[in-house]
Amino acid sequence: MEIAKKPITVAFGDGIGPEIMESTLAILAAAGAQIAPEIIEIGEKLYHQGHSSGIKPDAWESIRRTKVLLKAPITTPQGGGVKSLNVTMRKMLGLYANVRPCVSYAPFVFTKHPVMDVVIVRENEEDLYAGIEHQQTDDVVQCLKLISRPGCEKIVRYAFEYAHQYGRKKVTCLTKDNIMKMTDGLFRKVFEEVALEYPHIESEHWIIDIGTAMLADTPEKFDVIVTPNLYGDIISDVAAQITGSVGIAGSANIGEQCAMFEAIHGSAPKIAGLDKANPSGLLLAAVQMLIHIDQPTVAEKIHNAWLATLEEGLHTTDIYHVDISKRELGTKAFTEEVIRNLGKKPVHLKAVSYANAHKPITIKVKEKPKAQKATVGVDIFLHWKEGSPNTLGKAIEPMANDALHLSMITNRGIKVYPDGLPETFCTDHWRCRFTTDNFKPTSYQEILALMERMTKQGFDIVKTENLCTFDGKPAFSLGQGQ
Ligand code: NAD
Repeated sequence: MEIAKKPITVAFGDGIGPEIMESTLAILAAAGAQIAPEIIEIGEKLYHQGHSSGIKPDAWESIRRTKVLLKAPITTPQGGGVKSLNVTMRKMLGLYANVRPCVSYAPFVFTKHPVMDVVIVRENEEDLYAGIEHQQTDDVVQCLKLISRPGCEKIVRYAFEYAHQYGRKKVTCLTKDNIMKMTDGLFRKVFEEVALEYPHIESEHWIIDIGTAMLADTPEKFDVIVTPNLYGDIISDVAAQITGSVGIAGSANIGEQCAMFEAIHGSAPKIAGLDKANPSGLLLAAVQMLIHIDQPTVAEKIHNAWLATLEEGLHTTDIYHVDISKRELGTKAFTEEVIRNLGKKPVHLKAVSYANAHKPITIKVKEKPKAQKATVGVDIFLHWKEGSPNTLGKAIEPMANDALHLSMITNRGIKVYPDGLPETFCTDHWRCRFTTDNFKPTSYQEILALMERMTKQGFDIVKTENLCTFDGKPAFSLGQGQ
């Protein structure tokens, strides 16, 4: 029986995007994928036309209606004035889970790591990718790292549920919670809570730096990795590259309503238009898309034909190796070989089977009771360049009163007053911490009055952060050296 063609939204992207998308769509069509592509224009061209988001409303309309986007990479212009469309799309569409399988195809694709089958589950909406940045003083700019409990819970649950459904044995969490005790600390805490619900799956945590080193050195030790946005972005390029090329990994960006499928690599502008790009990353993303839209038989046919092509030593330049490959092919010729192999299975590499394709994973976040919150102080950040920490300390002390005492001044996080060290390098960006006695609650009026006293004395306040307790526990970090 003919199945109705599923409308999907397709973006050809920038750089090598159009070449690898043409290749992918040609293979999908030859394999009998029942899809009706709707083409949208996004990326560089739109940025240049003055659309700072890189996308127009009619493109959003298509994506929100089809709920599936197959997207080639786009170029993000450097510098200010425009935002990364990739990040915007992931966040606006609520695509919280970025699933990036990185697999070695030894001995048919050259790699130093012949045994590797890692799935990176990258948090996709939060972290430093909130993109909230400000210049606060002549010398200092800041970027806010935002991590939420529901955000952590969604991604961690997704990783365990993925491991459960796909018969994976272990989930590894990577964070930098030894330094960022509150943000990365929350991610790890939620990981440890959720792990208890999956006793049949091994769980472990590594600090991101040694975890990345181990991944690059002994990837066979890893199975599923779950990690915040920035680390996930970096380690998935590392993981893909050590399988043989960043050009052979695809990814699925999964949300509750919509999903976006793309290669993990960028638009590779230096090889654009040269018929050199490897279309495999986008093709494997399209395989994930076909499973998602319930066309697993076509997904399996394409994936096995692709594996058979690799096995025959027919390789694009990025994975060509003189001792392994039989022929070095351009994008178009490689595409034709995959099409020729449709219906074949690999002989040596493990053939894939999507007969029992997995159900889409849905996640329910548990409601937490709201804590009792009290304001117990304030960090007031100043732009000040007149003198030493002691000069500032002496000038700020008289601003305090019985309600709010000056407890310390830091510069870039390190305590410089009272009792700082003369060796500490100071910029023009100072944090003055005022607190109550024994975390007694204070009011915002007291804080405003303090700020008024300071501005009257000519201090340039660039930002404030309230210091709070939640259920009586202080919910702010100490100053370094405090
Ligand atoms: P890149 O991934 O485009 O390229 C890195 C290296 O890998 C280059 O040497 C490139 O030639 C090679 N490469 C990448 N894909 C390949 C393929 N399919 N076949 C053969 N070789 C391939 O990374 P970049 O140079 O840092 O970024 C270029 C642009 O892409 C930037 O504007 C960046 O913002 C953007 N980007 C977009 C996405 C996306 O759309 N999802 C992701 C990452 C980067």
